[in-house]
Amino acid sequence: MKQIYLFDSDGTLYDAEDAKRQFDLFFRTFADHRLGIAPGDFQETRKRLIKKYGILDSSAHCFSREYGLPIAEIYAETYDRIDLASCGVRSDHRLRKHLLSLRATRHVWTNAPRVYVRRVVNALGLAGVFEQCFCLEDTEPYAKPQREAYDAIQRKLPGDAEITLIDDRCKNLETAHALGWRTVLAGSSTEQLPTYVHRRITHLTEMT
Ligand SMILES: [Mg+2]
Repeated sequence: MKQIYLFDSDGTLYDAEDAKRQFDLFFRTFADHRLGIAPGDFQETRKRLIKKYGILDSSAHCFSREYGLPIAEIYAETYDRIDLASCGVRSDHRLRKHLLSLRATRHVWTNAPRVYVRRVVNALGLAGVFEQCFCLEDTEPYAKPQREAYDAIQRKLPGDAEITLIDDRCKNLETAHALGWRTVLAGSSTEQLPTYVHRRITHLTEMT
């Protein structure tokens, strides 16, 4: 059976903690300067808007809708400003070689926007490794772990293939499992594996 591997990006292809910190800082600064939201009120506003618009993981879209701002403007002030090199994101030849050796069609699937995941893939030296990068633009207004997002991705893939999602968040794997996909948890969590996780890896070079 044809195999398709869908690799999450943040926290799976690379350690995203520093990048997330930078994103948060830039977003708070943007909200303060552009929208007059005091840094102390930012988190509360973000939570409220995510609840209002229901776009999981995309505070950028929520702010865009609430304040009528072009999404590109928010991306330019947040994602585009993340300095990947200072976040430790660098070319990984070993990973590239390993991923290319896998006998599966490889795609990325992330809740981040396309402009950002392209930068990440290039910074990791993984250009050409993935056939497609599925992003928020492919599933919005939904995102992982919402079922509708998985349906949108599945419609883009051949119907006769076995799909495996490799992701660092259990919640994202739970929906995948419910759809009959295979699930791989990426990361060093020592928690007991939920039953919907088929396999855990600590590094992507363990993928076979
Ligand atoms: Mg992730």
